[in-house]
Amino acid sequence: MSSEVIHKVSEQRSRNMSAIKSKNTKPEITLRKLLHSMGYRFRLHRKDLPGSPDIVLPKYKTVIFVHGCFWHRHENCKYATTPKTRKEFWEKKFRENINRDNLNQANLSLKGWKIIIIWECQLKGDIKKLIRESLPN
Ligand SMILES: [Zn+2]
Repeated sequence: MSSEVIHKVSEQRSRNMSAIKSKNTKPEITLRKLLHSMGYRFRLHRKDLPGSPDIVLPKYKTVIFVHGCFWHRHENCKYATTPKTRKEFWEKKFRENINRDNLNQANLSLKGWKIIIIWECQLKGDIKKLIRESLPN
């Protein structure tokens, strides 16, 4: 690792700590690095778009959300568990998250944006194929 790379990594780390909880998470950074290595150009967290998408690819008029399986309730995913205590609290919270996601996605679609959801668990595998299929050149 060159000193420049190390510098970049530590810069990123300090930025993470100061950032709002849900921004610049490890899965997001993994995806950004992958997209970058595949030659895609993108912008981050466009606040003027519904749901402030994690990644925006203007050229493809496409937004990408990196969703944590637990918070966004990835269907049939082993990471989308429900805590055993305070069940009602969690179920309400999950419902609100899902409703918010649906609303944001509907608004983005209305504005003509294509939406890609990448689940955190997918990032553990090889998602290059998934990205290529979603973002044809
Ligand atoms: Zn999942």
